[in-house]
Formats: sequence, C-alpha cells, structure tokens
Amino acid sequence: MRVAVFSTKPHDRRFLDAANAENLHDLVFLEPRLSEATVALAAGSEAVCVFVNDRVDRTVIARLRDLGVRLLALRSAGFNHVDLAAAEAAGIAVGRVPAYSPHAVAEHTVALMLTLNRKTHRAYNRVREGNFALEGLLGFDLNGKTVGIVGTGLIGEIVATIMTGFGCQVVAHDPVPSPRCEAIGVRYLPIGDLLSQSDIVTLHCPLTPATHHLIDDHALATMKRGAMLINTSRGAVIDTRAVIRGLKDGRIGSLGLDVYEEEADLFFEDLSNHIIPDDVFARLLTFPNVLVTGHQAFFTEEALTAIAETTIANISAFERDGRPLHPVQPQAVRQGR
Ligand code: NAD
Repeated sequence: MRVAVFSTKPHDRRFLDAANAENLHDLVFLEPRLSEATVALAAGSEAVCVFVNDRVDRTVIARLRDLGVRLLALRSAGFNHVDLAAAEAAGIAVGRVPAYSPHAVAEHTVALMLTLNRKTHRAYNRVREGNFALEGLLGFDLNGKTVGIVGTGLIGEIVATIMTGFGCQVVAHDPVPSPRCEAIGVRYLPIGDLLSQSDIVTLHCPLTPATHHLIDDHALATMKRGAMLINTSRGAVIDTRAVIRGLKDGRIGSLGLDVYEEEADLFFEDLSNHIIPDDVFARLLTFPNVLVTGHQAFFTEEALTAIAETTIANISAFERDGRPLHPVQPQAVRQGR
C-alpha cells in the first residue's frame, strides 16, 4: 500500500524503514506537516501517516477522502488532533499506536521532577562556569512527599510505581481506578482533594473536552502553595496563562512541561535562528523554576521501534482485513480514552 508519511524527521525514516524492511508498503516520506496547504501531497496514496502536530481537521479529511485516502495511521497514542467524527463520515479508518513505551514517558516525567527539585539544569551550567555556590540549589527529599497523579492509565500507573519506590505517598484521580495502582497502595481522591494534598501534581490524562484547561486559576488556587506541577500529557490540559500567574505569585513552586498548548508552531523544529513570536511561551522560559522539553518524553529507541512496528502492522492489517490492528473509534472520545 502506498503511504504518505507526513512530518517525517530522520528518526521516523530510520525506524519506519527498519519496520518495513520487507518492503510491504511503499512509504513516501514527506517533511511538511499535514495541513490544508499540504494535503495535496497525499495524492496517489491510499493511506497517510501522521504525528501529533499534524492538523487532521474536517477540511483536511474531506480533501483526503477526495484524493482516495482510506486509512489514517497515527504514529501516536493520543488522537485529539484528529476529527474522528469527520473521518468516520468520510469512510476513513483511523489506527493508532495505543502503547509503545509507557516507560519512556513515565521515566521522562520523573526526570523532570528530579531535575526541577535538585536543580541539576542550573548546577550543570554553574559548574561549567566555575561557580560552585549552592545558593538557589536547595531541594527537598522526595521520600515522604505526596505525589498526585491525574490519570492512572498505562503511563500514570508506571509513574505511581516509580514514585512509590522513592518512598512517596501516591494519590490519584481517574474516573476508572487502576487495580494495579490500588494494589500498591495508591489512594483515589476527588480532583480537589488531590490538588490540595499533593506536593507534586503530575498529569497523565488524555486531552478531551473534560480535561481541557483542567488546571486553571480555580485548580491552582486549590493546590498546596509551592507545589510542583508536571505535564507530559497534552499542552491544553493546562491553562498556560493561569499557570504563569501561579508562578508569579509563588503558588506554583516549579513547573515541568514536555507539552504546550500552542506547541504545533514551535516543537520539533530548530528555531534557534528565529525570533519566537509566542509571548506566553517566551515568558515561561524566563522563570528559573520552569523546565520545558520539546515533546520528547516518548523519544527512546524502544518507543520508536514499537511506534514504527505497530504503524506498519496497522497498515498491513488494513490492507488485509479493511481494518487497522488498533482502530480508534469515535466513541473513544466520549469515553475519554
Ligand atoms: P491511557 O489511555 O492508558 O490512560 C489515560 C487515563 O486517563 C485513563 O486511565 C483514563 O481513565 C484517565 N482519564 C480520562 N479522563 C480523565 C479525567 N478527566 N481525569 C483523570 N483521569 C482521566 O493513556 P496513556 O498511554 O497513559 O497516556 C496518557 C496521555 O499521555 C495520552 O493521552 C497522551 O496525551 C500523553 N502522551 C504523551 C507523550 C509524550 O511524549 N509527551 C507520549 C505518549 C502519550
């Protein structure tokens, strides 16, 4: 099957080529993101393969249908960037990679916590400049602290296990509690209680209408003063402007982000020779207690291998049975998964 692979980076090509070593499919690697302006590049392909910042809205889907595209193969677990109802109406099947390496994201989450707490990002630069002063580097013991996990699916469960290993009390909020978490002593709480009791709040729920701006001014007012907030789920789960207000008045002690609500204009590109026009993002970077990574939590050998292999398996299953191995159904949105 001919597949137009949008948003191709060198690593996508490397891992997809390896997964497609038997040349099962004709992969056409395209650097541009999928959008209304680039959708014509899918001409001649029966499938398109996209990543998290490709724009797969109603208009793009209608154009894909007109071009004869029948499958949308997502190289991601999240599918909030796809209009699933429009895809269903257009007769375009959607497949995703439900679990590639929850460990990759969970471990990056903990890396953000440890770095922000012990300020190793600042210590690294100081020591290289011959500055061995400790002022400003004071951290706290994780042992005995309360970590609040919002969303205990595949990733949240692993974060719970790791933080339990540090000796933390782990509390969680999820409409569907995880028996694995309950078995290791995680206590499920209403969101307000989680926010008011946690020294660290970490977000692992999907972006849905219910979780959009879940962390807003009201939620921040409920949090412990000086708490750490981590988001490796999706940018818009946090109201960034509200979080900046929280950082300015000291309510938030530190902030670790791997995702940002307007990241599509920034992330995955080298903009080091450009002016960043986004003032909200630029303001975030001025805080010494904010650490931002550019959506790299998934970025491990194991995860990229699994993403590529599952993507090829989705395409092969669709070619064989008319259905991807891991289909996304429109009702998944309503269930918040
Ligand atoms: P998952 O589907 O296994 O788990 C999500 C959990 O969130 C489920 O248990 C669900 O019940 C829960 N949930 C749904 N609505 C909720 C709400 N309102 N409040 C609290 N919990 C709620 O997903 P996962 O594999 O653990 O991934 C979680 C999210 O992480 C994904 O949706 C994706 O957005 C994000 N992600 C980010 C990266 C990255 O590189 N930064 C990589 C993969 C996934």
